[in-house]
Amino acid sequence: MFDAHAHLQDIPQEKLPDFIERIAASPVKRIFCNATLPADWGTVASIAAELRICTPFFGVHPWFVEGLPDDWEHALEHQMAKKKCGIGEIGLDRARGGVSFEKQTYAFVRQLDLACMARKTFSLHCVGAWPQLLAILKKADLNGLPFILHGFNGSVENAKELVKLGGLLSIGPRNMDPGKLDALCSQIPIEHFLVETDFSKSSVSTGVDVDIAEFYLKTLDACYQKLAKAFRMGLAEFSNAIQDNEQYLMGYV
Ligand SMILES: [Zn+2]
Repeated sequence: MFDAHAHLQDIPQEKLPDFIERIAASPVKRIFCNATLPADWGTVASIAAELRICTPFFGVHPWFVEGLPDDWEHALEHQMAKKKCGIGEIGLDRARGGVSFEKQTYAFVRQLDLACMARKTFSLHCVGAWPQLLAILKKADLNGLPFILHGFNGSVENAKELVKLGGLLSIGPRNMDPGKLDALCSQIPIEHFLVETDFSKSSVSTGVDVDIAEFYLKTLDACYQKLAKAFRMGLAEFSNAIQDNEQYLMGYV
């Protein structure tokens, strides 16, 4: 199994060793672990160093563009040069109050440029800003660089435009009712789909002592089942198709 978008840095420090040990022995063969701001890049890098199947993504999430250190762009370039990685999580979010859309746009465009120059894939977050996001992507120097639409919940029309630009649509636990998903899967080929847990702090309710590894594996499994069903495919055949997509993306990290 392949998880195209997670935030493993949100796992409490004391629970990480157990999680890493159990995931390394599980059917999960690749996790794209997305940073969200400069302060968590170090943690993401160290998780990737300990968990061989984890590929780090470094970047600034649109929610966290206020109050960035002055040298964040240099720091990102430096981080990118150290190890195989993608760029993420980046994008635009018009529903997020208190964060300037102008600053979001600046940070997004800068990170997109860095990704294009380094030919590294990137993971996109988009809420309420499809026209703006598409306009920026169309102007970017993508040249066939594949990228990920994390937690895709847009229209079939958006999906078609994104796929034309090189996008892969990543479907998570909160995405889409079955009807909408069926419509999407009937019109977009499986080569353009991914599965994700979007695991983060908010995934596990606080106050209860949940078994994080078990919760994580169940979430990923449920997303695989949901999407395999939408494609009317058996789980093994579906998993193979998703693994091919993972191999393709791994050519751009
Ligand atoms: Zn995310």
